Amino acid sequence: MGKGFCYDAKLVLSALHSLRIDLHSHSTYSDGVLTPTALIQRASRNRVDLLALTDHDEVGGVAEAAAAARAAGIGFVAGVEVSVTWAGLTLHVLGLGIDPRNAQLSSGLAGIRKSRAVRAVQIARQLGASGIADSLDGASRFAGDAAAIGRGHFARFLVHQGHAADTKNAFKKYLVPGKCGYVAHQWASLGQAIGWIRNAGGHAVLAHPDQYRLVPLKMQALLDDFKQQGGQALEISGGLRANPMSQIRAAKYFGFSLSAGSDFHTAAHGSADLGDIPAIPEGARRLWQDADMFPSAV
Ligand code: AMP
Ligand code: MN
Ligand code: MN
Ligand code: MN
Repeated sequence: MGKGFCYDAKLVLSALHSLRIDLHSHSTYSDGVLTPTALIQRASRNRVDLLALTDHDEVGGVAEAAAAARAAGIGFVAGVEVSVTWAGLTLHVLGLGIDPRNAQLSSGLAGIRKSRAVRAVQIARQLGASGIADSLDGASRFAGDAAAIGRGHFARFLVHQGHAADTKNAFKKYLVPGKCGYVAHQWASLGQAIGWIRNAGGHAVLAHPDQYRLVPLKMQALLDDFKQQGGQALEISGGLRANPMSQIRAAKYFGFSLSAGSDFHTAAHGSADLGDIPAIPEGARRLWQDADMFPSAV
């Protein structure tokens, strides 16, 4: 081979087959139904090349997932999904490529989990007042780690007890604003979440922006604030049929890169599976390329 004819193995590989990434998923360490190992095995079966584990306010599953990913030969990104209160709304900020042992991040997340436990007692009290007894014990049985207890575990308990047909229905009937099991809660501030993530070496990504149902002016205010406080990327989510155009346009305007993830929780029919992300047009800035998240083996 002549001098000067050198090439990047990763570029050649990505040209040979389009790499399948998924930078948003949950395990039994928060409200997902698969253990970190089972999650990685499913990702591998789905031919995902790069997976991030992003449990809610929790990094306990990262070590197990990283080991399973090494064994399965797929790329892995250590992540977390931080719960945030911004202008009275609940938002989620993903931290991708974090050091899970970082002290500032760990203590910030521990604080949120403590407040999750307090909220769970309040949720159970309100459900009790509406005639649904013992929901704290019931929901805890569905939570792998009681400290990470969330509405998803209450939803499973409600389905198990016959109060709802499925978890979606349980949310709708009991766990969303205006319903008897909903408790308004103060999570981390946007600045805290981004600060912890960046301090831990991670990239801060606004998760599923279209789930917040914000009017355009409010969305613009959020993206301005997210940018100003150090946010780096917007997520494209919503499964294979989602239309990523509004995120692509907003990212270009505000100078964000794009991330993409399925937000996988369960293999139940109708939810996005691992690797289910829409096609992203050429030319859009991809966080996983900008931040060089692919290990050289992939
Ligand atoms: P939490 O952080 O405990 O308030 O729970 C938030 C999680 O609940 C989200 O990450 C979703 O997994 C789930 N969730 C929120 N809203 C709904 C909904 N309307 N239907 C089904 N699941 C939902
Ligand atoms: Mn969830
Ligand atoms: Mn979320
Ligand atoms: Mn999520």
